[in-house]
Amino acid sequence: MRRTGPSPLPVSRATRALLAVVAAAVALSVLALPRIERFFLIETGRQSEATLTLAVEALEGALRRYQPLPALIAERPQLPALLADPGNTTLQARINEELRQTAHLVSASDIYLMDITGMTIAASNYRQDRTFLGRSFEFRPYFTQALDGGLGRYFALGTTSLERGYFYAAPVEDGTRIVGVVALKFTVDGFEDAWRGGEADIIVTDRRGIVFMSNRPEWHFRTLHPLEAEELAAIAGTRQYPLERILPLMAQNRDLQDRLRLTSIDGAGDFVSSSRVIPEAGWTVTILHPTAPARSQALTMLALLVLGILLAGLVAGVFLQRRARLVERFDLQRLQHALLEKRVAERTADLNQVNRQLIQEIEDRKATEHRLRQTQNELVQAGKLAALGQMSAALSHEFNQPLAAVKSYAENAAAFLDRGRDAEARQNVTLISQMADRMAAISKHLRNFARRPQDRAGPVPLMGVLDDALGLMAPRLKAARAVVVQDRPEGEIAVMGGRVRLQQVVMNLVSNALDAMEDQSAPRLEIAVHADAGRVQLTVRDVGPGLSDDTLAQLFDPFFTTKSPGKGLGLGLSISYNIVRDFGGTLGACNHPDGGAVFTVDLAAATDHSHEVAAQ
Ligand code: ADP
Repeated sequence: MRRTGPSPLPVSRATRALLAVVAAAVALSVLALPRIERFFLIETGRQSEATLTLAVEALEGALRRYQPLPALIAERPQLPALLADPGNTTLQARINEELRQTAHLVSASDIYLMDITGMTIAASNYRQDRTFLGRSFEFRPYFTQALDGGLGRYFALGTTSLERGYFYAAPVEDGTRIVGVVALKFTVDGFEDAWRGGEADIIVTDRRGIVFMSNRPEWHFRTLHPLEAEELAAIAGTRQYPLERILPLMAQNRDLQDRLRLTSIDGAGDFVSSSRVIPEAGWTVTILHPTAPARSQALTMLALLVLGILLAGLVAGVFLQRRARLVERFDLQRLQHALLEKRVAERTADLNQVNRQLIQEIEDRKATEHRLRQTQNELVQAGKLAALGQMSAALSHEFNQPLAAVKSYAENAAAFLDRGRDAEARQNVTLISQMADRMAAISKHLRNFARRPQDRAGPVPLMGVLDDALGLMAPRLKAARAVVVQDRPEGEIAVMGGRVRLQQVVMNLVSNALDAMEDQSAPRLEIAVHADAGRVQLTVRDVGPGLSDDTLAQLFDPFFTTKSPGKGLGLGLSISYNIVRDFGGTLGACNHPDGGAVFTVDLAAATDHSHEVAAQ
């Protein structure tokens, strides 16, 4: 079964990272503290070793300085004299004084002369209350050592002076016989006073491990380890130290590094210690530096380290967060950029597509236009040919009539010539010539019509065109017995267009009108020309049935025709419409209120008549 409960609160990434850094810092401090502490303890030990060396050198210096003195003093000749005559007070007084002066000179505490029983018979401290005079020191080892002929050396608490001191002793010889002993004592208080100023404690222990020198008076005569009974008995025998003060100093040692140890002393605390031995005296000099400063240094260092880590963590955190934000922003920008680019690409693609389509359309249109123009031109040509075909019947009739006349006039002329009637013959020949002119005029129109029109539009004399057209249509007009009524200005009117094409338009309108009036008993054609405000209108009106709505709707469409297949192609108006439009004009159609159709050609008036460009 699944347990459901409140989900834990979401902890932000930053908080998690901070906690991790803090945890790392704590772990590091736990791990690093002992090492850092050890480092500082060793440093402390190293520094205190220098102090130790100084202390040892000072002690050794003193020992070396005092060591030869007793032997030198023992050389004095009056000493054996006094030893031989101890009752000689004058000599004794002199020696006492000499010893006092010598002691003063060499900064010795005491110098004294003993006979072979250890009895002091002369002493530098003869003036003092606690003088050694009359006191026996035969129990002291230095006395016995000297009496044996060697150098006596010893450290002890003075039994008379109650001062700790180091004793050197040398035998006084009378010839080869030892007759007495000279002893010299120097105190150690001066060294201790010097040590007191420092941070560290210094102790000097003897062979038995008894502290006999220290800057701390409470440690005097304490032992570093418990003493055996015999040892205590020996001390008692030589009265070296006061037995009641020989108490153990509870100390535990742990090695630190090389000669360095960690020493803890009950009631005094922890120390970094190191020792040096002065072999000739059998002393061990130990320096004890408290660990507290090193520990606090280590803690300070650790605190700094942790602070540093936390700070670095914080800085890194801030940096990472900023970077993450920047990366996020960059990503967003990149995304937006990509989106934008995509949109632009899409739009561009669309535009390109539309462009391509447009270009294609333009090309298609151009091609269509080209085709259209071609077709139009061909149709114009075809229309002309059709018109030519239509006209050819009438034309052949037109040509046949004058030809027949020419033939009869020619025969007549020949007959008149045979009869010598020259005048009549000449008249007939003149008539033949007239007939030929007439036929030449018809032929000229036909030639013009058959030619392909120029594309250019220029000033064209509208009246001339109208006359040409009516001239060409004359046979048909005549055949239809149509009445042509013209409403036109006196002079010529120039319009913008092409001569042949305009003529074709007029002919087409006239031809259509005649077709429309086929069934009329009185066909009538009204042609009017009006010029106004730079435009010229030519209207052709017939009295036929007019234009139905259907016809009006498709009038100018190519191949629209109501005529029987043999008669109409349905191209005339469509071609005319385009021709007029090419001239910058319009072709329109409507019904006349009084019946019949009205076709209007609206053209631009040409400004300069003299620049007529006749389309050939
Ligand atoms: P087509 O003459 O070969 O038929 P058009 O383009 O010249 O070709 O004429 C198209 C049609 O317009 C004619 O078939 C006819 O029905 C009509 N039309 C043209 N002119 C007139 C007119 N004056 N009166 C009545 N209808 C006309």
